[in-house]
Amino acid sequence: MCDDTLHEECGVFGVWAPGRDVARITYFALRALQHRGQESAGIAVGDGRTVLVRKDLGLVTQVFTDADLSAMPGKVACGHCRYGTAGAKGWESAQPHLSTIDEVIIALAHNGTLVNFDALRRELIDMGIPFRSNTDSEVAAKLIGHFTRHSGRLRTGIAHAMHMIEGGYAMVLVRENALYAFRDPHGIRPLVLGRLGDDGWVVASETCALDISGATFVREIEPGEIVRISDDGIRSERGCEPASRADCIFEHVYFSRPDSVKDGESFYLMRHNMGRRLAQETPVEADLVISVPDSGTPAAEGFAQELGIPFGTGLIKNRYVARTFIQPTQELRQMGVRLKLNALPDVVRGKRLVMVDDSIVRGTTSRQIVRMLKAAGATEVHVRSASPMVTWPCFYGIDTGSQDQLIAAKMSLAEIRAHIEADSVGFLSIEGLLSCVPGGAEGTCGYCKACFTGEYPVEIPREFWEERFLPGFTPENLSAASETSRMPIEQAERLLSQ
Ligand code: SF4
Repeated sequence: MCDDTLHEECGVFGVWAPGRDVARITYFALRALQHRGQESAGIAVGDGRTVLVRKDLGLVTQVFTDADLSAMPGKVACGHCRYGTAGAKGWESAQPHLSTIDEVIIALAHNGTLVNFDALRRELIDMGIPFRSNTDSEVAAKLIGHFTRHSGRLRTGIAHAMHMIEGGYAMVLVRENALYAFRDPHGIRPLVLGRLGDDGWVVASETCALDISGATFVREIEPGEIVRISDDGIRSERGCEPASRADCIFEHVYFSRPDSVKDGESFYLMRHNMGRRLAQETPVEADLVISVPDSGTPAAEGFAQELGIPFGTGLIKNRYVARTFIQPTQELRQMGVRLKLNALPDVVRGKRLVMVDDSIVRGTTSRQIVRMLKAAGATEVHVRSASPMVTWPCFYGIDTGSQDQLIAAKMSLAEIRAHIEADSVGFLSIEGLLSCVPGGAEGTCGYCKACFTGEYPVEIPREFWEERFLPGFTPENLSAASETSRMPIEQAERLLSQ
């Protein structure tokens, strides 16, 4: 993977385990989730009386020392690692977000994006509620606080807030003596539940964080569900009605770690099958299949196996370049490619190569890698993407920027081939992708695939999408209104309390 891909915005984790070192468990879980966000990290611990938070910009290992973790004893914790988007990169946007509901301190860790947070924020400000940042996470925390004050119960406050917020989200919240986990009604962002020994529980964005904690997978947190874990045990209740299922399909393509598992199948195996299917759909005569490491490797192996072409290592990745230092400007992105990857002339010289990547988003790095391979002596470079063409921006927690940054939205297949200077180029079809993910072919699991199709599962208000689309593109489920059709907070409060 190079910096020409989509970025997950966050990883979240929570643990309830009295008698254990919950801060260290969270620390190691965040290290397992580090691929989901490298710009800030934070841990909040509840010790039965209060909640302590430590967070800062940087990698998990940069933010926490051994002494920091030792100074955070407790029985419940949540953690967060973040990939910041433009305009939300400062310390204030680092999580968990700490806030108070009268005397109760809560810490909220959030993965995803709330598409209606601007309007909710304005309404809350009009109601006299102050804000410290411009993040959607603070809006969620303040909304939960507002409803909790009125209902007297945090669970009710969360449920009422879930009726108001829209978008893709997976959230973990701790107070001094309890852990809460809840997920959007479509299930766009992932959240799983695990068992830790006899009396502990964990929740995480991915199962790889359960593995490192020594926890065993129990089940997914259901869309619209609230799970509460405390001295009273674990309780599940419906926060809001589940809507049509729309798991983010890009988790399967790239975001999730290959050793994480969904429906009993590893993302590694799914990606291997995507490569096989890609080979069936876009075969080519070649001497060697190589991958863009590391995220393209499972699909490249599958591609090679399907066509009976040897698989080799043609590109070496410098593993010690943190993404933190690669800024999102064109010039530095280009430098980032050279910092991160180098070609192996001994392997590629004189060969007709197939280069498999997990996706092609902007196209800039693909062109640089093709040039690098040809300069190293490759006679042909055929580029294959193990995902369909990314033509639409994401509004549910993934940083795609606007549509004019997406190469497949601006160019035909032939133009893309010419632009990246490849001998041929091919993308996996949407049907092909669906055939490789659990329940995708049978339609037993619904997926969000809006970045390929423009069919957005959650209505997006105008102020959120305006100027993000190229002329002539008319996606589904955009709202012409500047707000979605939700009712005002105070009216909802009266109705929900009845
Ligand atoms: S638009 Fe794409 S990246 Fe965003 S949630 Fe849907 S599938 Fe995932």
